[in-house]
Amino acid sequence: MADKTPASRHPATIAAQAGGAMDDHTGGVVPAVHRATTFARGADYAPLNPDNIYLRSHNENARQAEAVLSALEGAAETLLFPSGMAAVAAVFRTLPHGATVLVQRQIYWGTTQWITDFCARRGMALVEVEASDTAALTAACVEHLPALVWVETPSNPWLRITDISAAAEAAHEVGALLVVDGTAATPALSQPLAFGADIVMHSATKGINGHSDVLAGALATRTPEAPIWQAIVLDRNTAGAVLDPQAAWLLLRGMRTLPLRMTRMSKTAQALAEFLHDHPQVERVLYPGLPDHPGHALAARQMPNGFGGLMSFVVRGGGTAALRAAGRLQLFHRATSLGGVESLVEHRHTIEPHTGIPEGLLRVSIGIEDAGDLRDDLAQALGQ
Ligand SMILES: *Cc1c(COP(=O)(O)O)cnc(C)c1O
Repeated sequence: MADKTPASRHPATIAAQAGGAMDDHTGGVVPAVHRATTFARGADYAPLNPDNIYLRSHNENARQAEAVLSALEGAAETLLFPSGMAAVAAVFRTLPHGATVLVQRQIYWGTTQWITDFCARRGMALVEVEASDTAALTAACVEHLPALVWVETPSNPWLRITDISAAAEAAHEVGALLVVDGTAATPALSQPLAFGADIVMHSATKGINGHSDVLAGALATRTPEAPIWQAIVLDRNTAGAVLDPQAAWLLLRGMRTLPLRMTRMSKTAQALAEFLHDHPQVERVLYPGLPDHPGHALAARQMPNGFGGLMSFVVRGGGTAALRAAGRLQLFHRATSLGGVESLVEHRHTIEPHTGIPEGLLRVSIGIEDAGDLRDDLAQALGQ
């Protein structure tokens, strides 16, 4: 049911038709929500449907959403989790006590915060490195011999671009696995597995669902037979970090427009980045679609379909000026998160004052509103 997707179909087709998922019982073109937590056996005690025993292990709605994600990601297998952080934790929980992990500096602060705490409790060595600097990443791999390398590209909120192929080579050279957090790009814009990543992780709460109404996370791989993947599968099943059927159903619906949304968001973000780049009140724009971004050429190779809807810019005049501009915005909601159809703005320094974020930095997530309306809103907020 969930697995009708011929490999040759394009992402927009796979997404729009939810990978072929329908309601086989009624013929409805939209699948049903299956809320049953347990499934019956026959008089001979054989399961009526051998795929379904108990909801923690077997969830039809999650399987349908996972099949679509696998097709979009070019993965052999995808696992959904009840949040992005649950997916992060599922990876790290498989590592042995005392292992060394190499993690990119200045990524999503929640990831860094949780990994730091987890490593301390597990007697694990955490080494942070600027992974967008390939030479630094390679040297750190050789020096520290990590079990796992964790990068995030584009990174949130700095929009740094890491060379996934080079990171995979550096990790594999020392026997480490590479995990890429691809949340900001989504599988519509980038497929890290094709560049050599062992596992790709997403907060599906963001662009994948795209409607700011589902909390979910995903892991995907091309090598489901790998011991780490088997350990993750077992852990999700037995520890129970599974996505609820209703959330999985909503996610499947949200993903029907994923390629469409990401294309539109990238196009609008590019126009707004160029507008801000030339604005006298703006010191600096961090967006990989701009030719003067240090990762531009690399991003163009790794994200050929667009640079995404996430962008940061530094307002002239520091924290006061940035907060004043954020306060004046009328269309952009002042709220955390990213990847939704509605545009959001965030003053990251207020949230994470000790991680080196410039006080004048505003992070924006560009939605699918009219590009001119968003531009006018930014213009009036910046005082021009
Ligand atoms: C939001 C986010 C996460 C965490 O995901 P949740 O769904 O909020 O648990 C991880 N990585 C990145 C890059 C994120 O933006």
